[in-house]
Order: sequence, then structure tokens, then C-alpha cells
Amino acid sequence: MEKKFASQGDTGKKSVTVSRLSERCYGYTAEGDPNSGFVVGDEAVLVVDAQATPVMAADVIAKIREVSDLPIRHLVLSHYHAVRVLGASAYKEAEIIASEGTAELIEERGQQDYESEVGRFPRLFRAVESIPGLTRPTRVFSAPITIDLGGVTVAVSSPGRGHTAGDTVAWAESERVLFAGDLVEYGAAPYCGDAFLRDWPRTLAKLRRLNPEAVVPGRGEALQGASQVSGGFDGTEKFVGELLRLAEEAVAAGQTLGECYAGLYSQMEKQFGSWFIFEHCMPFNASRAFDEASGIKHPRIWTAERDMQMWGELEGAG
Ligand SMILES: [Zn+2]
Repeated sequence: MEKKFASQGDTGKKSVTVSRLSERCYGYTAEGDPNSGFVVGDEAVLVVDAQATPVMAADVIAKIREVSDLPIRHLVLSHYHAVRVLGASAYKEAEIIASEGTAELIEERGQQDYESEVGRFPRLFRAVESIPGLTRPTRVFSAPITIDLGGVTVAVSSPGRGHTAGDTVAWAESERVLFAGDLVEYGAAPYCGDAFLRDWPRTLAKLRRLNPEAVVPGRGEALQGASQVSGGFDGTEKFVGELLRLAEEAVAAGQTLGECYAGLYSQMEKQFGSWFIFEHCMPFNASRAFDEASGIKHPRIWTAERDMQMWGELEGAG
């Protein structure tokens, strides 16, 4: 039987959890759907990741309003993906902060990504008609920046490539809380369609050295305590490492993408098949891993058309 394209058939509603991770830091997590997080200072609030639509962002804002009525002055984008950025217009008073790498990707491929992501996974775009268009940052950084919220500062930096070329994290050092975006996932498959798989473990090693006591991952529950935190890092690293290793073996053996995908899927399903969005991610992950193993350095742009073509090749015949 033909599998429905990507996750068009995934329509089950998820419930949101807001977890207080330290005195001033909170995770907004959604059972494997894209997370956000926020830091409440004495003078202002900072939010990490905008959600997919302004209507969905309004739900994050409502949760913030349960704990603070301070102005939300800063919105940090962990990377350029549509599900992270297109809700930004709900933040009327906030500067929109992105790394240089993320700003470039928004210009280069933001529109294609928008169309592609909505087509793949419509449930993730509740009230899609409320999106006014692409989100463009109002503050772009190349060197790390520190944001003072009053009583707490947040360091925003781009620690290296991994999930995308522009990955950004927010680190509230005095709270020991890290907002990692999709560089770290927990019980959810890392999406690797735009990834730099060789670089990713090195970037994770830098984040580990911060020694956070809590991490808000891109997807999955907030991680609290040393063993959960290292579990999040370990799981992500293992997934990414296996993906690249299996793709390299397939390329060295002269396999086609279709053959590589079949082998890779059956191997990885044993370990990771129960993780959120595993099935959704694997065709895209295999495509990028196959490309990277074949020497294609820069991830190719996914368009709605390329999505369908790839899906037909890898899943249509199954
Ligand atoms: Zn992403």
C-alpha cells in the first residue's frame, strides 16, 4: 500500500506542557511537535522559536502571560525552518534575532522551505492563513551576543553547523539552562534534510561543555538533570552518526539512493523506530546523508516538487 506523502495523514492533536526549568527559564513542549522556550527577566522576556503560525505563537504568549506581564522584547530564531519562524509576527514588540547563517538561508530558500513544510506536514501549521509571509530577522549577529533581561542575561550564539548551516542556541548561564533548537532532540528523530552530518557531533560536543542542568530540545520533553541531559545529547549523536555511517557504507558499495534508503531504514528502525516523526524524517534524512556521503557539501534546496519526486522514488513503489 502506498504511504501517504510525508506526514499529511498525521492529524492527531498534541498537548502542550510548560515546564519551569529554573527560577527564570521555561520550556514549552508539545509531545514531539516543535518546542519553544522562554526566559523571564526583571524587565523583559526573551522567547526562543516562534512556532509555525501567529495563531500558534499566540498560545505560547498566553502561557507566558500566566507567569509574567513584562514586555516580550526578544525573539531568538534557532534556525530558518518554517515551523520555527513563521509565527514571528505575533510578537509585536520584539526584535527578531537570527544568526548570519540563518538570515542567509531565509533569503536563499525560506520561501521554498515554507511551501515544502506546509505540504509535508499540514497539521504543524494551525491557521496557516494567519502567516503574513516570510519572517525576516531585525537583528542579525555574526559574533555571539548577550542579552540583558534584568537580573539574568542570555548568551545567543551559533556554535557550529549541524541541523542547518545557521543553528543558534540561547544559554542562560546563571540558570544553567540551554535552549538548543533542533541541534538536540529527545525521543524524536532529528530531521536531517538540511544537515551537516559530519559537523553535527562537533557542535554537540561544544554544547555539552557548557554543562547545562536543563535543556529545551527542538522536539520532545524538556531535559532536566544530568542523566536526562546527557541522554538527549547521546541519543541525537547516535542517530546522526548511524545515519551518516550507513549512508557512507551504501555509497562505498555503489548503491542507489533507493537501495541505501531501504537498508538504512531497516537498520535504524530497530533502534529509533519508536521516536516521534521517525517515519516522516527518514526519506529526507536518507537523501541528505546519501548526498553528504557522495561529496555534496551544501544541502540541496527542498522544494514542494523535489519532495514529491523523492517520495515517489523512495516510498511510492513500496
Ligand atoms: Zn528544523
